[in-house]
Formats: sequence, structure tokens, C-alpha cells
Amino acid sequence: MIKSLLFQCLFFIYMNKQTIKDIDIKGKRVFIRVDFNVPIKNGVIEDDTRIKGALPTVEYAVEQGAKVILASHLGRPLKDRKKAEEKGLPYDESKYSLKIVAENLSEKLGKEVKFASDCIGEEVKQIVASLNDGDVVLLENLRLHAGEEKNDEDFSRQLSELADVYVNDAFGTAHRAHASTAGITKFVQPAVAGLLMEKELNFLGKALHNPERPFVAILGGAKVSDKIPVIKSLIERKVDKLLIGGAMAYTFFKANGMTVGKSLVEDEMMPTALEIVKQADEAGVQLLLPTDHQVVDSYDPLNSRKTIPIEFTNTGLVGLDIGVETAATFAHALEGAKTIIWNGPMGMFEEKPFDEGTIAIAEAVADATGKGATSIVGGGDSVAAVNQAGLDDKISHISTGGGATLEFLAGDELPGVAALNDK
Ligand code: AMP
Repeated sequence: MIKSLLFQCLFFIYMNKQTIKDIDIKGKRVFIRVDFNVPIKNGVIEDDTRIKGALPTVEYAVEQGAKVILASHLGRPLKDRKKAEEKGLPYDESKYSLKIVAENLSEKLGKEVKFASDCIGEEVKQIVASLNDGDVVLLENLRLHAGEEKNDEDFSRQLSELADVYVNDAFGTAHRAHASTAGITKFVQPAVAGLLMEKELNFLGKALHNPERPFVAILGGAKVSDKIPVIKSLIERKVDKLLIGGAMAYTFFKANGMTVGKSLVEDEMMPTALEIVKQADEAGVQLLLPTDHQVVDSYDPLNSRKTIPIEFTNTGLVGLDIGVETAATFAHALEGAKTIIWNGPMGMFEEKPFDEGTIAIAEAVADATGKGATSIVGGGDSVAAVNQAGLDDKISHISTGGGATLEFLAGDELPGVAALNDK
């Protein structure tokens, strides 16, 4: 009951935020916090979903004649450097530069995107001062400064000196109270949502507040511990069906006394798994777990691959993906759904052929969407599966947030949204 009231409050708070369209930005220096934290391998951007996601806001700001200042993080450079130093390994800072993103964005916008080699300081101030209306500059990785993740006041103030208006379009980092997502709003007003942020809040807000039913949630990935709050919240929101795949299912099986071999399990989460099963049962939520899986033995991984019923798992086997029977059962459970939320892969998605189960679920979600469901897919691996299968235009909303989506669904306040002005 209390949780339900909390959801109502959060829903109205989130739906009531000012957006970039509510304010005058012509000729103003508009600082847009974007999420350009894209995967880059050997100098190539592997997935540009997040850059594409920011385009509507950036294009709108350009059309309105704003001086557009874009800021983002990329990876965790300082943490990685510390780790490398501790282990005596080489550290290459160039891997954390957003320069390559500026080039990519420039192609997408069809106009020059200037690049500033830092995000604070004199050089940046000069570049910003030289911007004409409609010009765009991307600042270097915010997380090259320790002040960003510490939400440091002085760093926030230095960022704020570049801006007349603050826009947060980085839903993916809205669950973090960092300098560029929260601290800066103390020094720059107005502080409003970007169009991607607005879209994310609308889709997720509606799904939680007033979902059209049947409402089906699919959760996967490695750890139950990461997803407990969201599982509990979905049960409290009385999702009609909850489908659990991926390694997290093994904790449920082991808690039930089944043999899971060498599959990934969080032993300390077994009591919680049993509690979740009981809660789902009491709430009338249909909880579906895999019935078969793809296993290997640890000696000859690929050659030993086979699909077996879960209960045939012996101690030498490792489960790495759901089996075809489970994929079919999950697909069947999605038939007739009106709202679908999916977060987390069904198996060790990065290693072919253990992406098959996840791709099958992507196809089933796309299929259900074609038949009238509103589908929301979040989390890096599930989004990658949808993109890999070429199904991105068959999903109602691909969320750019992984952790942020989960925290939203769990009913937690997102500091990056809370900091924005109400209408
Ligand atoms: P998460 O961050 O919790 O969403 O987990 C994503 C990770 O779970 C991915 O890296 C997958 O490879 C991994 N994963 C999912 N299922 C399995 C499995 N059965 N065995 C090992 N890893 C898995």
C-alpha cells in the first residue's frame, strides 16, 4: 500500500518535469548532459544507440539557435587507471576520449561538431565563447575528473560557468548523483529534461503507473542480487507474469534443492529466491523459470554443448543459455501481452552460440509488439540482442538506461530527474 502510494507520487513527480520545449533557448549557452557512453573497440563505435537517442534533443537545440554544449562520460577512466597501477598493467587514456564520438555525431547531424579536449578550464571557455547560434561542441569525458563522480561542488560550479541553461538527456546516468547530473543544477537554472529523458520517463512511467494488461516482465542476467528490488517491486505492481532466465535462474533451482552443476549461483541469495517464489505465489503472479537449458562440460566447451532438461543437470555441467523448449514457453507466455518489460540476457549472450536464447526472446518480444503490446527493452545485452537481430524498429521503446531503468522500476528516486524543475 505504502509502496503503491510512493509509485503514484514518483509517477506524478516524473511526469511533471519541464522539458527543453518549455523554455526559450535561442542564443543561449545550453549545456546538455548526454549519455555517449558507447562501446568502442579498436577505435570503432560498436553500438551507436545512445548517440542516435540524443539526436532529437541536439537537433532541436540547433534548430532553435542555441549554442549547444554536450557533455558525457565514457567508461570509468580513473577507476581503470587505479586498477592498472595496482596490477602494474599498462593504461591507455586515449581509450576514454570522446573525440571519436564527436566525429560520429558530426556525420549524423550533417554539421561540424567541435571538440574540446577538456570539460572545464580556459580552453573550453574560449571555445564556448566562440560558438555562434546553432553551433555544437562536445566536451571531453567528464569522468577524467574525480569531481564528476564525487558530485564535487567546485567541479559542478566550473561546469556551470559554461552554461545559461541546463538540460539532462542522459537517462542512463539519471540514477547517479554526479556533478553533471545533479550538482550542476545548484548553479544553473533553468534545469530541464531533454526529449530522450522525457520519452524514457513517459514510457517507463506509464508502464509502472497504469500498465495495460496482461503485463509481462522478463528478467535475465547474471545476478539475482542486482535485481531483487526490481523483482519485488514488479510483484508488488502485480505484473501478471514474471519470466526469469539467464544465470539468475540457477539460484532459484539450487534453492529448491535441484542440481545445477557448475552453473553460476549466488548461494547467499537462495533464501531470497525462495521468498520471491512465495511472494509471487501469494500475489497471484505467474513466475516462469526455464525448463531446459544449453549446457557444456568445462573440459571441451563447444564440442560438448547439448540441450537438456534442467533436472538432468549433473555436477560436471555448466548451463550457459536457455533451451528451445524454454524459449518456446516464454514466447507463448508473451502472446496476448499488452505491456512487456525486458531487462537482461537469457544466457551468456556475448559467446556465440549462447546468444540463441536471448535472440529468440528478442524475436518473441518483437512479435508480441506487432500484435499490440507496448514493449520496453533496457539493459546493454538485451538491447544489443534486439539490435543484432535487426528488430530495433519492432520494439516500442528501447531504453538507454540499464541500471537507471531497474532503479526506476524498483520505485527508487532518480537524482538526475529529481534535480530538474517542475512544470
Ligand atoms: P547482468 O549484468 O546481471 O544483466 O548480467 C549480464 C551478464 O550475465 C552477461 O555478461 C551474460 O554473459 C551473463 N550471463 C547470463 N546468463 C548466464 C549464464 N547462464 N552463465 C554465465 N553467464 C551468464
